[in-house]
Amino acid sequence: MKKVFIFLGPPGCGKGTQTDVLSKDLKIPHIDTGSLLRENIKNQTEFGKIAKGFIDKGQLVPIDVVQSVINERISREDCRNGYILDGFPRSVEQADALKKMWENSPFKFNKEDKIAVYFDIPTDVLVERLVNRRSCPKCGKIYNLVSSAPKNEGVCDICNEALIQRKDDTKETAVLRFETYNKETKPLLDYYKNEGLLVQINANQGIDAVYSELKNAIND
Ligand code: AMP
Repeated sequence: MKKVFIFLGPPGCGKGTQTDVLSKDLKIPHIDTGSLLRENIKNQTEFGKIAKGFIDKGQLVPIDVVQSVINERISREDCRNGYILDGFPRSVEQADALKKMWENSPFKFNKEDKIAVYFDIPTDVLVERLVNRRSCPKCGKIYNLVSSAPKNEGVCDICNEALIQRKDDTKETAVLRFETYNKETKPLLDYYKNEGLLVQINANQGIDAVYSELKNAIND
């Protein structure tokens, strides 16, 4: 069984939802770069102050900020047996930086432990997914107003907290995020193919079907 997972795919492809499930299943942490950055913004840290302007414009946050945040996170004790990287790396430059982090990491994994999973999905369904996405600020559960709506409108099924919409999930910012994805992140598919780490799954299905395909792909 693989231990270190890199989840790749355009904004709204559902990798966050799948990471949540896999992380509970395998009992390894879900490292979601976007959430870590948003936490820094909320806590008004120096990193958060830098990140905010880039996130609001749908652009990548500078590598030194992201690298520091990720490096600190994957060095924590709970990453000893593996982890899922959701949203990092997002450029070839970041993938090279990750290789260096692995070399200096307190926890060593070999090539057979690692896998990069590409969540393949047509772009036309994505904008709709993004603008309908809501999440619980307390437990992080993700909903979709069309395909997986909460039982009671506007509140989390688990904590009863009022759901929120991310500021960058508007149509305008979503378009900018896709442009950034196509330019910066898509080249990673060839990068990880060349490394012999890439598998592709069809993300244009229901949550359970995607998860079953994911489990098959990572058990191979
Ligand atoms: P996400 O929650 O993954 O959709 O990320 C939201 C935003 O956070 C992105 O649009 C970027 O502005 C920023 N971000 C997340 N991950 C990264 C990363 N690896 N490198 C740079 N910026 C990132």
